[in-house]
Amino acid sequence: AHILRNAGGRVTDDVIRSLVISQQQLGTREIVVLHHTDCGAQSFTNEAFAAQLERDLGVSVHGKDFLPFSDVEESVREDVRKLRESPLIPDDIVISGAVYDVNTGRISEVTL
Ligand SMILES: [Zn+2]
Repeated sequence: AHILRNAGGRVTDDVIRSLVISQQQLGTREIVVLHHTDCGAQSFTNEAFAAQLERDLGVSVHGKDFLPFSDVEESVREDVRKLRESPLIPDDIVISGAVYDVNTGRISEVTL
C-alpha cells in the first residue's frame, strides 16, 4: 500500500500523478480516500485565507483554491467523484471513502 498525505487529504493533480505511478508501475489496485474530523482544512475559506496571506506575506493568491471544506463526509464524496471521473484511474479500480474521527479513533466508511 502507498500512503499519500497532504493538507485536507484532498485529491489534486499531484495525487492523481502519484496514484497513476502506484497503479501502473507498481500494481496497486484499490484506493481509499480518508479525511478526518477537526481538520485544518475546515478552519478557513479561500477568500479569508487569501486576505490573510496578502496581509501576512504580501503575496496575492486570490482565485487560488486551497481546497477547504466544511462537511467532512461531503469532501470525501467529492474526492472519490474526482477519482472516478479521472481517465487515468481505470474503472475496475475499487475506490472507497472514510472519515477518521480524531476524538474516538474510529474510522467510518462514507456512503457514496
Ligand atoms: Zn487535516
